[in-house]
Parts: sequence; structure tokens; C-alpha cells
Amino acid sequence: PLVLGIESSCDETGVGIVRGTTLLTNTVSSSMDEHVRFGGVIPEIASRAHLDAFVPTLRQALADAGVTLEDVDAIAVTSGPGLAGALMVGVCAAKALALATGKPLYAINHLVAHVGVGLLDGAKTTGNAKITGSANQAVRDGGIPASGPDGAAGAPRLPGNLGALLVSGGHTEILKINSITDDVQLLGSTIDDAAGEAYDKVARILGLGYPGGPAIDKLARTGNAKAIRFPRGLSQPKYMGTAEEPGPHRYDWSFSGLKTAVARCVEQFEARGEEVPVADIAAAFQEAVVDVITSKAVLACREHGIKDVLLGGGVAANSRLRELTGQRCASAGIRLHVPPLDLCTDNGAMVAALGAQLVMAGIGPSGIRFAPDSSMPVTAVSLPA
Ligand code: ATP
Ligand code: MG
Ligand code: FE
Repeated sequence: PLVLGIESSCDETGVGIVRGTTLLTNTVSSSMDEHVRFGGVIPEIASRAHLDAFVPTLRQALADAGVTLEDVDAIAVTSGPGLAGALMVGVCAAKALALATGKPLYAINHLVAHVGVGLLDGAKTTGNAKITGSANQAVRDGGIPASGPDGAAGAPRLPGNLGALLVSGGHTEILKINSITDDVQLLGSTIDDAAGEAYDKVARILGLGYPGGPAIDKLARTGNAKAIRFPRGLSQPKYMGTAEEPGPHRYDWSFSGLKTAVARCVEQFEARGEEVPVADIAAAFQEAVVDVITSKAVLACREHGIKDVLLGGGVAANSRLRELTGQRCASAGIRLHVPPLDLCTDNGAMVAALGAQLVMAGIGPSGIRFAPDSSMPVTAVSLPA
């Protein structure tokens, strides 16, 4: 089926088009530049940017894919989780398109779509999308190459026991995908800040600007990760328990204590009148985040018989996370799949990819009466009519 996917849950306006598991185009317009001076995504600005960007992004995507709205078999849209006002723009646009064209509409879970994108096969997008609508909107165009970056394997073909490790600005979760279309299990998640959020907050403490992830990643390479030992949240026996008797947070994470520990550490250096070793702190912070994410994720996979893991979300760009996840998965006999970065961060192709899976599985569309749900649970893959 030819499926058009629409994404607007945060600061990216994305329209992607797939035919089955073949990616035709992935057109993304981001309002990130407009949020930088505020040090974080401002929901109202994001919503307005989606309004400006949607039609040009849609036109560009259709042109790149060489198809018309008439050719499309189904429309898929992110209905949650995400920023309520931002979701509303994509959902209203999708409903309008569905009404005008008579095409079936699927309301899709953003987090499951991050996994669904890994099921796209080795198609390469055509053309270099460039939108002239708004001067400060960066447009990227991506496709899945035959094999992923950093020597990782290419997109998985829906193996029997698939796990997904999603690490982004809004989420940190380990999922078990029993069926991508209707059976997703949440094994563990953060109980407070998401990992990307922790990067952004710590970068602010260290005076590194926003978004903080890339800045810390870069600076950490010049620092000594062993200079300081920061806490690994929820790793004590009372939270972990044992495989037979799991504790209350065996596969969960907590990053807010880590952020506080970094702030204390900086204060102590300042109180002593010493220069703050910013690179060492960045490296030690990053090591704490990546260590606890990968150790708990691999533990959850081992204890649930998961043999293939997909890494997704914006923090999948992190060089140390890729490295350590790769090493620990290899030691545990788990295959790691890392889609190209453009497909790891928020985009419309992932929504289209999951929509196509739903169509192919014979699952019915959602109608046009649903509302966006900013806290849509990951166990709801799509909304029933
Ligand atoms: P969500 O997808 O959960 O709704 P989001 O849109 O904020 O949230 P993404 O766009 O997927 O998430 O990712 C953005 C986050 O990724 C930011 O917090 C950013 O700091 C982080 N990030 C980006 N690159 C890196 C990197 N190299 N190392 C660490 N973090 C990074
Ligand atoms: Mg984003
Ligand atoms: Fe996302």
C-alpha cells in the first residue's frame, strides 16, 4: 500500500511516503532554530511553526515521491504522545486530507512509529528536499541504506523477538514488540527525566547551550570519564531485585538525581575557587547515562529472550551510546539495529511505515472522530474507530 505519514508531536513537521516497506520520501521541517534562544522547545512556537510548515512540507513530499494524493491508499498521523497543541495541527491536517480525499485515516502512536521505521527496507530517497517557505526551517531528506551506520546491521525484517530501546528528549523506554501492529509491551522507562532532557539540563549547568546532547557528546571526547563517578539511578538491590523476584524498578531509569549530582559537583569546584573541569564532568556524566541505559536495556532483553534490538530516538545520535550498546549487545548475543539518524529523530516516514504495517495486517482505520492524546500509552499502537 502507498501510505502518507504525518508527524507533528514536537518541533519537527514531517511528511513521509512509503510503499509497503519501501521508503519513497522523508521530508522534515524543524522549528528547532526558533527555540534555541529559549533553551528548550516552546509549545506555542512549535504549534505555529507546524501551521506554517505543513502545506509546503506535504507538497514537497508528494513531489519528491512523484505521487499525488489520489494515488495514496491510506493516511497515517501521530495522535500521541507529544505536545497537545503541536499534535493538534498534524491531526487536524490529516483529518482534513482524509475528508477531502475519502482515504482511510490511521491515528498512530509516535513511540511505536519510532520502532516501525526500522522495518523499512533498503530504499533510498530521491532528490534533495528543500523548502523555501520559512527561512529558518532546516529540511532534511533521508533513506535507509542497505546497512546502517557504524557497522550496525540494516533494518530488521520483524524478527520474532524484537526489542526497542527508545532514547530521546521526551522518552527513555525499553519495549518488547510481540506484534508491531497490536501487541507492544513496556518493560521499563524513566521515572522522571528522559535521557535527552538530562543532557539538555546538564549542558545548561555546564554553560554549553541548547540542544545539549551534541555539545556534551563532543566535549566528552576530550574529557576523562573516570575523573568523577556520578550515580547510576535505580541500580541498588532494593530497586533491582533478582530475575526470579524483580524489584519495583528492575528495568527503569531515573536521571534527575544525576542532574543534581552534576550541579553539586560544579558548585563544589566553584566554592573551592577551582576551575571547573567541564570536559571531565561532561565525560563522567555521559558515562553514567550511557552505562545505566545500556546495562538495564541488555538485562531486560536477556531476561525476556529478546535477540534483536532496535535503537531509536534523538539520543541514538550519541557516539558513546552507540558504542557501548553495540559492545554490550554483542557480548549478550543480541543483534543491534540502528537506523540512519534521519530516521531515528522525529519524522513522517516512521508514521507512514507503521501505517503501512497496519494496512498490511488488515487492521481497520481510526475514522476521523479521535482526538490527539498527549499521553497516549505505548501499548496503544493505533486508535480503533
Ligand atoms: P520525543 O521524540 O520523545 O517526542 P524530542 O523530539 O525532544 O522528543 P528527539 O528530537 O528525538 O526528541 O531528540 C532530541 C534530543 O536528543 C535532545 O534532548 C538532544 O539533546 C538529544 N541529542 C541529540 N544528539 C545527541 C547526542 N549526540 N548525544 C546525546 N543526546 C543527543
Ligand atoms: Mg525533536
Ligand atoms: Fe520522537
